[in-house]
Amino acid sequence: MDRWFPSTRLCSACGALAQKLPLDVRQWTCPCGAVHDRDVNAARNILAAGLAVTACGDDARPQRGTTRTGQSSAKQENPRATKGLPVL
Ligand SMILES: [Zn+2]
Repeated sequence: MDRWFPSTRLCSACGALAQKLPLDVRQWTCPCGAVHDRDVNAARNILAAGLAVTACGDDARPQRGTTRTGQSSAKQENPRATKGLPVL
């Protein structure tokens, strides 16, 4: 996730990016009419971004390669059993 993701001022309803918000502004209204608490809005956007990244990571995960060795151990082991955690 981009560390500069504008989560506090990206409308979680319509996706519009608001003007830069002073730190003392706790709530802002999007041109679309949605009123956002900046913390709640940020949480929604971060959650959405996190889910998107997770989904992409699953789809983009390369298949387990067998080019490291030319030996025949690949037939004996279950690739799933030795790779329980996805590499992020
Ligand atoms: Zn909006």
